Amino acid sequence: MARYTGPSCKLCRREGQKMFLKGERCYSSKCALERRAYAPGQHGQDRKKQSNYGLQLREKQKAKRFYGMLESQFRTCFEKAAKRPGKTGENLLIALECRLDNVVFRMGLAASRKEARQLVRHGHFTLNGKKVNIPSLEVKAGDVVKVKEKSMSSPKFKEIREMTISTPSWITVDVDKLEGKVLALPQRQDIDTPIAEHLIVELYSK
Ligand code: SF4
Repeated sequence: MARYTGPSCKLCRREGQKMFLKGERCYSSKCALERRAYAPGQHGQDRKKQSNYGLQLREKQKAKRFYGMLESQFRTCFEKAAKRPGKTGENLLIALECRLDNVVFRMGLAASRKEARQLVRHGHFTLNGKKVNIPSLEVKAGDVVKVKEKSMSSPKFKEIREMTISTPSWITVDVDKLEGKVLALPQRQDIDTPIAEHLIVELYSK
C-alpha cells in the first residue's frame, strides 16, 4: 500500500498544527513547528484570507495527515462512513480512531501513528491472538491487541515500555504485558484530534 514518504514536519507546518508524526521529537524544543510556526515554502509567511473551499480542503488534508492516509484511502473511509447510520462526520472520525495503527498508537505501543503503522506492517502485533499486518484494519469493542511474543524482547518495545502516555477512556493497557483491550468503540466526545469533521462532509458533498 502506498504511503507518504516526504518530510513529516512540513505537513505540520502546512496545517499550522502539531500532528505528532515523529514521536519523542514532537514533545521537545526540536519540534519544527515550534521553531518555524509558518507554512513551508517561499510564500509560507504571507497572510492570505481563506475561502470556504480552502477551509474545507485544509480540514480534510489535516485529517488525512493526522491519520497518515492517502487521498484514495481517506475517500474510501469517508464513503463507508456515509453508508453507516448516524452522522457521517462522526462516523468518519470514529472509523479513523478505530484503525489498528491508531489504536496501537493510542495504547502507547508506538511513539507515533507513523511508527505504529510500520510496526503493524512488520507483523509485530496480534489481534485476538492472531497475527495481523494490516494497519487499516478496524478494531471492535472487546478486541485485544498485543505485541507478538517474539517481538517483546526487541529494543524498540523495551523503549516503548519506558514511555509514559495517557490512554483514552475507551482503551485499557497493560504496559508490562505490552497488551491493550478496546473496552468500547469511541464516541465523538472521546476523540481529541482537533478536526472539524463537518467541513470534510461539506467538501465531499459538493
Ligand atoms: Fe510535527 Fe512532530 Fe515535526 Fe513538530 S516535530 S512539526 S509535531 S512532526
